[in-house]
Amino acid sequence: MTIVLSFFVAHWVLSVFMQTFFLHRYAAHRMFTMSPRMEKVFHFFTWLFQGSSYLNPRGYALLHREHHAFSDTDRDPHSPHTTKGFIDMNVRTATRYAGLWRGTVQPEARFLGGYPTWPAMERIGDSWLVRLGFAFAYSIPYFLFAPHWAFFLLLPLHWFMGPLHGAIVNWCGHKYGYRNFDVDDRSKNTLAFDFVTLGELFQNNHHRFGQSLNFAARAWEVDPAYWVIRAFAFLGLIRIEKEQKMRYPERPVPALVESPADAE
Ligand SMILES: [Zn+2]
Ligand SMILES: [Zn+2]
Repeated sequence: MTIVLSFFVAHWVLSVFMQTFFLHRYAAHRMFTMSPRMEKVFHFFTWLFQGSSYLNPRGYALLHREHHAFSDTDRDPHSPHTTKGFIDMNVRTATRYAGLWRGTVQPEARFLGGYPTWPAMERIGDSWLVRLGFAFAYSIPYFLFAPHWAFFLLLPLHWFMGPLHGAIVNWCGHKYGYRNFDVDDRSKNTLAFDFVTLGELFQNNHHRFGQSLNFAARAWEVDPAYWVIRAFAFLGLIRIEKEQKMRYPERPVPALVESPADAE
C-alpha cells in the first residue's frame, strides 16, 4: 500500500510542479529565463511527469493569458462564475485550449509569442500511442502492489493529472478562500500553505501581482514551488533577472497634490 500511495503522491507532486514551474510561471508569464538547452530539459520533464495528460506549452500559455485578461468575465476561458457548473467549465476549458493549441481559433495578437516551442517533443507528447503507453504504465505499480481492487479507482486521476490540477485551481481558486487584495475579479486564496498545487491556489495574490514569482504575499503564507525555483536559480539552472515582489498591505496611492484652484 505504501508503494502505491507513494507512487500516487510522487506523480501528483512532480506533475503539478512542472505545471506551475514550466507551463505557468515560465511559458505563460516569463518570470525567469533559461538557456535554450535548459528549456528543452525542463520541457522534457514536463512531458515525462505529465505523461498521458501532457499539456502543450503554447496552448497553455495562450489560454492562461486570456484568463488573466478576461478573468471572471464572459470571455474568461475557465471561470466558475460564468459557466454552468464544474463540468461545463472544464468542457469549455478543454475546447478553448485545443483550439488555441491547434490553431483552429485565433487569440488576440497581444497574447502571442514568448512561449517555448519544440515541435518534435510536442508531437511525441500528443501521440495517442504515447499517451496510452503512459496510461498503461501507471497501472503497473497497482497490479504489483495494490492490496485491494479499490486502489485501482485512483488510476483515472493519473490519466488526467495535468487537466485535473488545472480544474482544481480554476474552480477552487476563484470560489473558495480568502482575499488579500481587492481586485476586479473573484479570485481567492484557497490555502495558506498550498501543499496541494504548490502555490497555484494563491489566485487572489497572483491576480493582483501577476508577475510576482512568489505567489505568497503574507508572512504566514507558503508557496512551496517558489522556494524550489529559487533553488534552481541558486544552482544556475535558470536566471531570475528582476524579481517583482508582492506588497502587502498595499500602501494607499498617494493623493495628488491639490492645485491652488481645487483648494479654494
Ligand atoms: Zn485565476
Ligand atoms: Zn498566471
